Amino acid sequence: MSGRHFLFVPGPTNVPDRVLRAMHRAQEDHRSSAFPALPRSIFPDLKKVFGAAAGQAFIFPATGSAMWEASLVNSLSPGDRVLACRNGQFSHLFIDCAQRLGLRVDILDVEWGDAVPADRIGAALAADPSHEIKAVLVVHNETATGVTSDLAAVRRAIDDAKHPALLHVDGVSSVGSLDFQFDEWKVDFAIAGSQKGFMMPAGLGLLCVSRKGLAMAGQARCPRAFFDLRDQAKHNAEGYFPYTPALAHLFGLREALDMMFEEGLEQIAARHYRLGEGVRRAVAAWGLKLCARDPKAFSNTVSAVVVPDGADSKRVIDIAFRRYNLSLGAGLGRLSGKVFRIGHVGDLNELMVLGALSGVEMALNDSGIAFALGGGVAAAQRWYRESAPPLG
Ligand code: PLP
Repeated sequence: MSGRHFLFVPGPTNVPDRVLRAMHRAQEDHRSSAFPALPRSIFPDLKKVFGAAAGQAFIFPATGSAMWEASLVNSLSPGDRVLACRNGQFSHLFIDCAQRLGLRVDILDVEWGDAVPADRIGAALAADPSHEIKAVLVVHNETATGVTSDLAAVRRAIDDAKHPALLHVDGVSSVGSLDFQFDEWKVDFAIAGSQKGFMMPAGLGLLCVSRKGLAMAGQARCPRAFFDLRDQAKHNAEGYFPYTPALAHLFGLREALDMMFEEGLEQIAARHYRLGEGVRRAVAAWGLKLCARDPKAFSNTVSAVVVPDGADSKRVIDIAFRRYNLSLGAGLGRLSGKVFRIGHVGDLNELMVLGALSGVEMALNDSGIAFALGGGVAAAQRWYRESAPPLG
């Protein structure tokens, strides 16, 4: 098909030309005396994106799921009890990872579409006076349902229960695009990947670890080799990695971080809010509902849209892809066929979103979910005009 493909899955996201150009270069000697300048410039900036002044950032040639594993094996021992909330497919998979590593997981199940219930976390911890629960696992932004949870409330609940459990947060679809405060929320392990807010191809697992979390690496008895943070820390201190690093990705990350600081982290979060709100207004104009139920938890990086009873969201997605060159996210796990997801994360602007919304309208109508064409696009246009920042 001619023209640009419209990539509106919630990751991988559009890679800006600047990042692509930065990655398109010859390989270098990763053991040369010149090499450390690159990682040494990246690590402090990476920490800033997490909102971390203390602690340490790590980069692996991997993806977000691998960072679930890295965070768990470096802090826990087989048989340890952990508390996890399951509110969508990614929290489900995080739990599955913990169970496969031999951890005992107390699961707080909530409706898919609801946020992490801080009060239930607090109650579960309060009911554990002997501090058997070693860690709390939550997904900040459940990409499967389009729900952002209140991590400040989760932190308050842990503190109110006076419980020392570590806090592991999956920030794969939030870090770099939504407000993320590693220090303030006293996160111990924050997990991210390169292919969403960082505007890069998939291929890097990113991890930020608190001092308390780092101290656990020596005590944790989960077997590990490649993911051992002690090896990473030793080599990173000299500006190197324990293995051949993904060089092109490191150059891309350097450029992406530059772009992020040029725009400003607050401005990025504000842009994601504006873009996301436009999508939400379009969904309302179509007469459809989001999977996320509480407006306070609406995600600014992804909207999961529920199709009417009897309709199949897979058909909408396929029509959008084959007829209009538009990629939408599928319904995952138990939401398969019931929702389609519009990703609004990364390197995006209003007109790109409006183009995608126009394609969604056509695909919905083509699949028999009929409404007046243009209604959603117009609702989003009105919002983008009224919320536009003043011209400088
Ligand atoms: N966690 C969340 C919230 C995600 O959205 C994803 C992927 O979309 C993952 C984890 C898994 O990340 P990856 O596909 O990079 O392994």
